[in-house]
Amino acid sequence: MTSTWTVISLLNWAAPYLEKNNSTSPRLDAELLLAKVLNCQRLELYLRFDKPLAPIELAAFKELILQRRQGVPVAYLLGTKEFWSLDFKVNETVLVPRPETEHLVETAIEFIEKNFPKGCPVLDIGTGCGNIILALAHHFAAAADFSGIGSDLRPAALALARENALNLKIETVSWLTSDIFSALIPGTHFFDLIVSNPPYITSAEMKSLPREVLCEPAAALDGGPDGLEFYRQISAAAKNFLNPGGSLIFEVGDRQAESVKKILASNNYSAISTKYDLARHERVVSGLTNGD
Ligand code: GLN
Repeated sequence: MTSTWTVISLLNWAAPYLEKNNSTSPRLDAELLLAKVLNCQRLELYLRFDKPLAPIELAAFKELILQRRQGVPVAYLLGTKEFWSLDFKVNETVLVPRPETEHLVETAIEFIEKNFPKGCPVLDIGTGCGNIILALAHHFAAAADFSGIGSDLRPAALALARENALNLKIETVSWLTSDIFSALIPGTHFFDLIVSNPPYITSAEMKSLPREVLCEPAAALDGGPDGLEFYRQISAAAKNFLNPGGSLIFEVGDRQAESVKKILASNNYSAISTKYDLARHERVVSGLTNGD
């Protein structure tokens, strides 16, 4: 690169370069990364097309493009990801929040609004950067009875979740280091809603993950031999922590809905239902407990 590089000439170089290296959104990636280097909004680049870049900016951009070329997700390079129209800090210790997980949030909101208009205690198992429980807490900011717990096995994830809560000024969620329910005490902890986007990739799929997903923590992805291990464990134990009429809501992987419905049925949940994502996959599976 020479000092004559401008915003537009850099974008015109970087986008085809990333495309050749298998990015599915090369122009967008290049724009987001250049906006990060120039510390501006992406659309502001369009007002600065002819701006020449300083050598230090060029070097920083080149480094980001090289990492992107190796498959590092854009969210990790930016250090942030939008979810539910909120900004979440992310890094390699957590899964990058996915748009399809917003269906889980939607389903949870519908359940709470219908049954607990003033909010209720909610547990999010495997919270990662806290996106699910913090999106709920943000939605129910004015609900007097909303309280959340985000649990995760990994302290590094919880440190990030705490930071996100602070940035979003949310004080109704507390954080718990816990291997599923290990840190929760039956008879002491009760919830009206438990949500989870557990690891659900099968052992076979773990061996052939796309490059980008390989950058994400295996602990947040690996769902055991058939990908269903966490659904079994959570469904069986959640009943010890749910009030009668409480709900358990899961995100599930492609083609897992039928199996997860069966797991819920075999644990005596009722009103088992599913919701589709925008790609027409059954993405959310939920059931109610009768408190038996
Ligand atoms: N949605 C992620 C993926 O398909 C997996 C998330 C998970 O295992 N919960 O890559």
